[in-house]
Amino acid sequence: MEPKYIFVTGGVVSSLGKGIISASLACLLKARGYRVTIQKYDPYINIDPGTLNPYEHGECYVTTDGRETDLDLGHYERFTNVCTTKANNVTTGRIYQNVIDKERRGDYLGKTVQIIPHITDEIKRNIMLLGNTGDYDFIITEIGGTVGDIESLPFLEAVRQLSWEMEGNSICMHLTYVPFLHAAKELKTKPTQHSVKKLQELGIQPDILILRTEHDIPAGMRRKIAQFCNVAPNAVFQSIDLPSIYEVPVAMHAQHLDEVVLGKLGVNPEGEPHMTPWMNFLDKMHSAKQTVTIGLVGKYVELQDAYKSINEALFQAATYCDRKLDLRYIHSEKVNNANAAELLKEMDGVIVAPGFGQRGIEGKFAALKWCRENDIPTFGICLGMQCMVIEFARDVLGLTNANSTEMDPSTPNNVIDLMDEQKSISNMGGTMRLGAYECKLEPESIAGKAYGKTIVSERHRHRFEFNSDYRQRYEQAGMKCTGENPKTHLVEIVEVPSLRWFMGTQYHPEYTSTVLNPNPLFLSFMKAAIDYQAERTNQQPTN
Ligand code: GLN
Repeated sequence: MEPKYIFVTGGVVSSLGKGIISASLACLLKARGYRVTIQKYDPYINIDPGTLNPYEHGECYVTTDGRETDLDLGHYERFTNVCTTKANNVTTGRIYQNVIDKERRGDYLGKTVQIIPHITDEIKRNIMLLGNTGDYDFIITEIGGTVGDIESLPFLEAVRQLSWEMEGNSICMHLTYVPFLHAAKELKTKPTQHSVKKLQELGIQPDILILRTEHDIPAGMRRKIAQFCNVAPNAVFQSIDLPSIYEVPVAMHAQHLDEVVLGKLGVNPEGEPHMTPWMNFLDKMHSAKQTVTIGLVGKYVELQDAYKSINEALFQAATYCDRKLDLRYIHSEKVNNANAAELLKEMDGVIVAPGFGQRGIEGKFAALKWCRENDIPTFGICLGMQCMVIEFARDVLGLTNANSTEMDPSTPNNVIDLMDEQKSISNMGGTMRLGAYECKLEPESIAGKAYGKTIVSERHRHRFEFNSDYRQRYEQAGMKCTGENPKTHLVEIVEVPSLRWFMGTQYHPEYTSTVLNPNPLFLSFMKAAIDYQAERTNQQPTN
């Protein structure tokens, strides 16, 4: 079958959840046996979101082939179990960079280089790349931003041209918002009509409308929207707020979104998607009664999107362990040795988050010290692992001034140090150790047992590493290196086997955790937290 293209745009407001709707549709098409991928076009000038502060754009997600990308790619992978690559996220900045590079090479043969046709052609070329591989039946392309923004105009023009060129092999799905005015007690359709008009002015007629809403939209109102927006009545769907994003595919299937999409693309919509494993996950999610309490120590706690993949990996693991997740955010800047017990005493397990720079670092040490001394299941990820190593040096090895050269370039005990390959790098963008690398595990370690194999591949995003000059001292004192890169021997995992579950990973296991394939380390950590909770509650009389 020739690849089919589904373009997804958004109107009225941002943060409508285009990523979740795209991922849900992909999930349904995949469950029907099709090969699906989702790509995101972001209209900002940064080459990629790697240099963006998490306060600006939430978490930076990393693909196996080492691209720093938008957090929506995390949703795509979690919903579809299909790996994304660098082709799945393209920004305005990258498009312009490609065009300018071509201009400097002389590729345009003396022509004036312009937004139309050169920028739009470059967008079109990129949009087609995944389809041209022959690996996919459906390519869902999400256009970031909101219709009406100046910056997304070239992308929408590219979509218009492609829709015209593809004749029947593409559709446009537009998400809008239907607000409820509390004073009038009324749902309002006018913003939707205006945003569709805006799209039509640009030459794009949406084939499908998805109405985001907090209240049920009556059939008559949906029909009115269909009529005024020139869309078939059966192609107007509502996406009502749900307790969990993982219920969205089911809610969309209940309204026949997947069938209507297939029908519009000339594909036989008969049959049902095979959703049994997904439904089993939802059943577990709905029937969980007991709670597990996990503390996440980090400096971006005001913005939960900053730790999106960790939140989702924890949620998946808790669900598979038949628990509701009670995730408590603990601001690392507020933790110290005096209050760590008070802040952490209710936790069944503690995660120390990734990050960059000095802010909040002492709080991470204080939290780790308390967790280590009180034998709390503890998981350090990337900077969290590095903090684990530093805290252990200061408190157990007696190297009181131990540090990472990231925080103190002149520390005499650089137990975490800049990687050799990083020493000559001065540019910030895209230059970290990024993407998937193999890790060889100690079979008898907690990590080895959790994965049940000795070689795993996980994704990275860092410049600093465990300084192997200290490895022997750590091992003698009880912190073992239980995972390393098989080629370079870079330390990937540390564990303290005398404690119930105390592990740090240089890599980010959260990036590979999906609904149907939860990450083994998160599962293992969650089981340890639940065991610890049981032990603790048995000890304390409940009266
Ligand atoms: N700042 C640390 C480094 O660059 C850790 C990075 C991270 O947590 N992703 O090595």
